[in-house]
Amino acid sequence: MNILVCISSVPDTTSPINFNNNIFDTNGITFIINPYDEFCLTKAIHIKEKIGGDITVLNVGEANNDAILRKALAIGADKAVRINENPKNSKIVSECIANYCASQSFDLIFCGRESIDYNGGKVPGFLASQLDIPFINSCIGLDIIGDTIEVKREIDNGYEICESILPALIAGQKGLVEEKDLRIPSMRGIMTARTKPLEVVEIDTNSEQKISIVEFEKPSSRSECKIIDENNVEKLVDLLANEAKVI
Ligand SMILES: Cc1cc2nc3c(=O)[nH]c(=O)nc-3n(C[C@H](O)[C@H](O)[C@H](O)COP(=O)(O)OP(=O)(O)OC[C@H]3O[C@@H](n4cnc5c(N)ncnc54)[C@H](O)[C@@H]3O)c2cc1C
Repeated sequence: MNILVCISSVPDTTSPINFNNNIFDTNGITFIINPYDEFCLTKAIHIKEKIGGDITVLNVGEANNDAILRKALAIGADKAVRINENPKNSKIVSECIANYCASQSFDLIFCGRESIDYNGGKVPGFLASQLDIPFINSCIGLDIIGDTIEVKREIDNGYEICESILPALIAGQKGLVEEKDLRIPSMRGIMTARTKPLEVVEIDTNSEQKISIVEFEKPSSRSECKIIDENNVEKLVDLLANEAKVI
């Protein structure tokens, strides 16, 4: 099974988020593999361990993203590809990946359901459409059955089971594997990752950027938390009634 896992590089959720003249300030930010992509990568490793195969991880981005690709190699991917492009919109990202895929023969393509930074959730659908292959979104389970797949996907108040032919594109999330299944790179994995191929590819795209960000607004800061002694119920009632005005 020839598997592609698309990897987006996103700020760690604990990083301080700031903007400078409406541009995201990357100072002091640690970048990580988009968590949804990590679930997909782990699932790809499970498939490889069960039926064999080859796992390529791919990022559309600049050289500073090589570190997250090396981490994906250390976790268990066989090969990494970075398409050298400043990914200014989802269309450019999907076009770059589609152009690369045209010269490859992937049976199964994984994307995360959405990136946790810009939360576009657009790349997987665009990509499947450009490659003209089936697309199943919000996947929380997947089994390979011969040359087809059976996929469990989350819907409102439940889930549904779908079957698809291969090649297909899966947008995955937690449930595809559980958090406890995620792999921390071992020392051996980190050493081996240094010798695995990381190919840098240049691709021309025709997409223009039709949307530009006008302004970012951070959520208003929460009011200060007050700790009230457990025996001082009167004070609690007074604050809820007169300050928070909720009773
Ligand atoms: C108006 C606007 C301006 C932007 N300007 C910039 C900018 O100046 N610089 C910048 O770096 N970013 C910029 N971005 C973010 C950039 O567009 C996103 O990286 C890209 O659009 C994909 O984000 P998404 O939220 O649509 O991805 P989603 O569709 O939410 O991502 C879903 C999945 O697609 C895959 N995927 C997404 N992005 C990549 C990727 N780059 N490589 C491989 N797989 C990927 C991953 O599997 C991911 O889990 C901008 C976004 C917008 C909306």
